[in-house]
Amino acid sequence: MTGNSRIALVTGATSGIGLAIAQRLTQAGYWVALHSRASSAVGLQAAATLAGAHYFQADLLEDGERRDLINQVYTHYGRLDVLVNNAGESSVIPHDDLLAATPDIWHHLCELHVVAPWQLVALSEPYLRAASTAEHPASVLNISSHAGVRPKGASIPYAASKAALIHVTRLLAKTLGPDIRVNAIAPGLVDTPLTESWDEIRERWAQESPMGRSASPTDIADVAWMLTDSRYLTGEVVVVDGGMNLR
Ligand code: NAD
Repeated sequence: MTGNSRIALVTGATSGIGLAIAQRLTQAGYWVALHSRASSAVGLQAAATLAGAHYFQADLLEDGERRDLINQVYTHYGRLDVLVNNAGESSVIPHDDLLAATPDIWHHLCELHVVAPWQLVALSEPYLRAASTAEHPASVLNISSHAGVRPKGASIPYAASKAALIHVTRLLAKTLGPDIRVNAIAPGLVDTPLTESWDEIRERWAQESPMGRSASPTDIADVAWMLTDSRYLTGEVVVVDGGMNLR
């Protein structure tokens, strides 16, 4: 089913950062497996506009659905070169309201941001290894957050789950090289459906960040492409926040 095209699976690819990465990879000649939890109409529509794309639906909180996703993608395309773990959710809780950060919220965010990406890598590993060559090593890209790098973010469970994803990125880079490179992006504020109502924070980014604005999804997709196209980078965490971390 692949011809000569390389195949990328992008989770959470029907909006925001995931959609921009899917579009960027398609421009570069990849055929992209688009995934989302629920927005199948949007996914099918997006797949119709991107050469070689196909849409897959799965709730990544469910073990069985993660397995089905990787099986379905491999059955459809017959290979897998790149896995982008982008799907995620935020949960806004004041950091000093400890009881509001309930165990259920902790479990939910750790399952979505750590366990699910981990399992997708584990299930994909044989396919990524099979597709990998010295000229084009296979790769995993994890979308973390600046909140995983600095003691900030929408909530402590969100920030901690994204920090764990960064550590997993580095540990996997050590473990899976040279066949599979593993990198992460830690975006600052990005204009997506997830942050639509965050006007106050957007204003702070405009006033305080050296680049004077929040990021567009395309800003993140450009860095995603740089990390995907590299033959050598692994274990890197690129903070893409317009310089806000300098404040
Ligand atoms: P978005 O809401 O546009 O996209 C999130 C995607 O994740 C959706 O496609 C959704 O279907 C998917 N998703 C959520 N829960 C899921 C589940 N249980 N199973 C399967 N899929 C699920 O948001 P976005 O801003 O593009 O976020 C993409 C990633 O970037 C997330 O991991 C987010 O934490 C991270 N991030 C975003 C920002 C930002 O400012 N927007 C900053 C740092 C990091």
